[in-house]
Amino acid sequence: IFKDYISRFPEESDMLITCNENVKLKVAAGSKDIVVKNLYLSCDPYMRILMSNQRSEIFVPYTPGTVITGYGVAKVVESGHADFKQGDLVWGLVGWEEYSVLKSTDGLFKIHHTDVPLSYYTGILGMPGLTAYAGFYEVCKPKKGEYVFVSAASGAVGQLVGQFAKLMGCYVVGSAGTQDKVELLKNKFGFDDAFNYKEEPDLNAALKRYFPEGIDIYFENVGGKMLDAVLVNMRVHGRIAVCGMISQYNRPQPEGIHNLMTIVYKRVRIEGLAVFDYYPQYSEFLDFILPYIREGKVKYVEDIVEGLENAPAALIGLFSGRNVGKQVVVL
Ligand code: NDP
Repeated sequence: IFKDYISRFPEESDMLITCNENVKLKVAAGSKDIVVKNLYLSCDPYMRILMSNQRSEIFVPYTPGTVITGYGVAKVVESGHADFKQGDLVWGLVGWEEYSVLKSTDGLFKIHHTDVPLSYYTGILGMPGLTAYAGFYEVCKPKKGEYVFVSAASGAVGQLVGQFAKLMGCYVVGSAGTQDKVELLKNKFGFDDAFNYKEEPDLNAALKRYFPEGIDIYFENVGGKMLDAVLVNMRVHGRIAVCGMISQYNRPQPEGIHNLMTIVYKRVRIEGLAVFDYYPQYSEFLDFILPYIREGKVKYVEDIVEGLENAPAALIGLFSGRNVGKQVVVL
């Protein structure tokens, strides 16, 4: 298999040295498999959930001993599928390895626009971008002038939600875990204000300071104490899009939430979202976001580490806030 492969892709032969010998790099006759060379891998918080034994409607845990999967940008090197040909660029679920054999093309998107950085398809032009778009516009249903709060605001999803809120004419405040990230939110992404939640002993008091009139929309990325504090600061008929709760992913038991009755008092609508429900809207999302990127009206910050060997540390870094912006691994 390797000999055949190297004779056809000589320029890539050096990459094969570290390839798993058990990986079949040749598409079996009659199969619809695709072999891809992985170019960028995405570090995403949900991967931590797959490393626990929590099974849910949307998550099936990783099987220990198998190659972990994640979002990535890749180039097709061999294809048995009529819709994909050698040389096509794609994004979707791949393995954390140099080459992957993809048995299914469900959720695999062809990349047609290459005038923007390819790595963006792990972030602003990929899964996190669509999450921010669907979560903000579809779930939060924002109106001009509303008060918006975003947690984990400098991350892959949060930085976009804040900018979408500004495009909508909202007042937006973000929270992040370092002073540098706070500056980034205000000076690069145009948030009206931002604070370092690690330096706020009383989150309720902090939110009252930043939102004296209350919060209309909370884009929830962290959960736990922040959610509890937000609940009492919501306005009547406010909306909360529950995108994720990263502060809970390393905990054996979730933290208790004490202020749930305020959901009744303030008639708050809380709605969870799963990005793949919105995959049919992906091309609509691209039409929306690409002009903003090209015109520099929406900014995107990435944190890129090099090499598969550094990918595990990059993934773990998400849970201490080591990343500044979207965490990407370039292979
Ligand atoms: P980020 O790029 O924002 O990285 C994670 C960030 O979370 C860290 O940089 C850190 O920033 C912050 N963080 C880590 N631990 C804590 C903690 N204990 N308390 C508060 N903040 C913490 O990740 P993403 O933008 O990719 O993801 C953001 C959220 O969106 C996650 O909850 C994720 O699971 C969710 N998500 C959900 C999707 C869906 O379909 N529902 C799809 C994609 C993402 P800091 O320095 O500010 O602490």
